Amino acid sequence: MEEKRDFGDLKREVIEKGKCALCGGCVATCRLLDYGYLSIDFSEERPVIREGQQCPPDCGYCYYQCARVEKPELREGFEEMYEVVSTDEEIRRAGQDGGVVTSLLAYALDDAIVEGCITVADKGEWKPEVQVAMDKAGLIRSAGSKYTPAAALTGIADAILKYDLWSVALVGTPCNMASYEKMLVVGRDTHNAHNFSSHIKLRIGLFCLGSYSYEKLMKGYLEHEHGIDISEITKLQISEDVLHVYAGEKELLSAGINEIEDYKRDGCKVCEDFTGLFSDISVGTNGTPKGKSSVIVRTDFGREVFNGALERGYIEAKPIEKSGADLIHGLMKRKKEAGMAEKGERKKLMER
Ligand code: SF4
Ligand code: SF4
Ligand code: SF4
Repeated sequence: MEEKRDFGDLKREVIEKGKCALCGGCVATCRLLDYGYLSIDFSEERPVIREGQQCPPDCGYCYYQCARVEKPELREGFEEMYEVVSTDEEIRRAGQDGGVVTSLLAYALDDAIVEGCITVADKGEWKPEVQVAMDKAGLIRSAGSKYTPAAALTGIADAILKYDLWSVALVGTPCNMASYEKMLVVGRDTHNAHNFSSHIKLRIGLFCLGSYSYEKLMKGYLEHEHGIDISEITKLQISEDVLHVYAGEKELLSAGINEIEDYKRDGCKVCEDFTGLFSDISVGTNGTPKGKSSVIVRTDFGREVFNGALERGYIEAKPIEKSGADLIHGLMKRKKEAGMAEKGERKKLMER
């Protein structure tokens, strides 16, 4: 019989090998969650257990939950692509191009499809903070991409334990979506009493080419190297390989992402998913004109929510242009190949 693995194995095989995506799945499913035994150390950007303590024997929920230990299998899905914009001006002003994620969530809340939405807000100085938004004001607080890791899955525990919610939307990067899928797969066998895996109703994945160390990107590069006052920044955007930093209408910086490649988290370098294959709906800015978003509907439930938002006038949509779809497919291919190549390189180094 295979020996049971635990946090020590997760540390050795994933965290210390630079594979951790900082999704927070292990924290949310830790058997000792109620004691805050496993948490994310954001200064070190890694999951840690309380110093000097030991895991109970025969546990290992965290190890089996981690999508970087073993990837979940992709269930059948489809791919309908649209060019979309929010019809709500306040949301459009607050959000990334088009305000589409916020409007889809606003519809899901108004129509009682979900009671709360796990999103990432700005805690101040662009430090990401996972929150459970339950109204439009909360959604607007979390509009826009952060590009630094937030461990979004820890929000599942908050939504259920703190707010007692039964139906929740999870918004996150592709690694967050894969981690939740893993929770569904392993949840029944290894889960703690809260059985989180049944509470997420809607999954919205955000296109992602990488996330960056907060200290290196925000403090080191933007504040120290470019003299940008972080508190002035109103929007960060990476599109077409360029990082744009804005304060209102004013562009503070435009730089090729090759300049910030060194600040990308190691766990992102082995990542192969650009759009969030495990989502109901994926959203991103690549492939559509400025001010709009690309949306990929992937599941029947995703289609139901998308059509509902469309019919109730929360969003406007048209099929994406072929050039936009080609660009997205090109980026999907590029990220998959880059992730596989990095894995291959690391394997070769280990074998030397
Ligand atoms: S990838 Fe996610 S589940 Fe795996 S160790 Fe990192 S935070 Fe935990
Ligand atoms: S899930 Fe179990 S093995 Fe993992 S950190 Fe928590 S107590 Fe330890
Ligand atoms: S590149 Fe991959 S691992 Fe990194 S944040 Fe994006 S989806 Fe997660």
